[in-house]
Amino acid sequence: MMKLTNAQAENAFDRILSEYRVVAPKRKHGAGRFSDMDVIAYDDIGSLQEIVFSEKTETSAKSVLFPTREAMFNCGAGRIEEVTPDNRPTVVFLRACDVNALKVTDEVFLRNGGCMDSYYSRRRKNLKIFLLECPRQFETCFCVSMGSGRTKDYSVFLRKDADGYAVQVKDDDFPAFFTEGEEADVWPGFPTEDRASLEISEEIDNSIFADEMWKEYTRRCIACGRCNTSCPTCTCFSVQDIPNGDGRDGNKRKRIWSSCQVKNFARLAGDHDFRVPNGDRMRYKVLHKIRDFKRRSGFHMCTGCGRCDDVCPEYISMFRCIERINKIAASGGTD
Ligand code: SF4
Ligand code: SF4
Repeated sequence: MMKLTNAQAENAFDRILSEYRVVAPKRKHGAGRFSDMDVIAYDDIGSLQEIVFSEKTETSAKSVLFPTREAMFNCGAGRIEEVTPDNRPTVVFLRACDVNALKVTDEVFLRNGGCMDSYYSRRRKNLKIFLLECPRQFETCFCVSMGSGRTKDYSVFLRKDADGYAVQVKDDDFPAFFTEGEEADVWPGFPTEDRASLEISEEIDNSIFADEMWKEYTRRCIACGRCNTSCPTCTCFSVQDIPNGDGRDGNKRKRIWSSCQVKNFARLAGDHDFRVPNGDRMRYKVLHKIRDFKRRSGFHMCTGCGRCDDVCPEYISMFRCIERINKIAASGGTD
């Protein structure tokens, strides 16, 4: 554990960059909702100064392990050739909630139904986590209620101070990079309370399906899917076969992020679609995040990162929706 000057930290970081791809929150000028707004987003970085430590990203870092679209294999004329995934050793800077989100994506891609996704698995093995601190929460966070506001699962903790950096190294792969600096006692701070405490009821039964609130969400939700794409634990995808050239050289099988909020998500062969109104798909998403996944895996899928609240163009709030569900469950359910 040590304190480094800016120059010492930059030297250490340059050495890390020579061996690892580094992905961290970065400012993208003019890429926000309006042309004069910036956005903070995960991206590859080329120097320590590029990392934004004090602001929240609109989207998560999940594309490092699960790219938005990715070619899996080429097939045709009696052959199948795997497309080798880009699985370079990678450092990713995450806040505690996003470290805990990896527990969810690991469950889905490594243990779901006894199957392991080899593309995810190869990237996961080469991933190192650098912890970003949240001494206080951002406006829409509720990680404490979801039990995801703290973590011990990281290789290095790095805090930007006014006069340099504080570093705590836990992984034997990294002391060699931090050779300068003064000894110091360095520990990350974690938030201890949410703006309002949410205790998610264990008593949410299927009578909630009949509640009127889902009709309100049908009127408000425009099925854009932004809540899913920003979420660190949404993992649904579709697959497509794209012809190579004119198709005589077979097809490329690609997988592409999908969204349970968009139309036709639940459409089956024979044109059966069992979640047509937008509010029904909202209900499916919310109950999966705070009830159904936990019943199977023992912990919540939602980490309380608040990104879905941040990005929804209709100001639909996951936090408020959970509060409403809790109230209904506490009153004995919907008649
Ligand atoms: S708060 Fe929203 S974006 Fe964050 S994990 Fe929960 S559902 Fe996903
Ligand atoms: S971001 Fe908002 S409007 Fe868009 S699909 Fe999600 S809940 Fe609906």
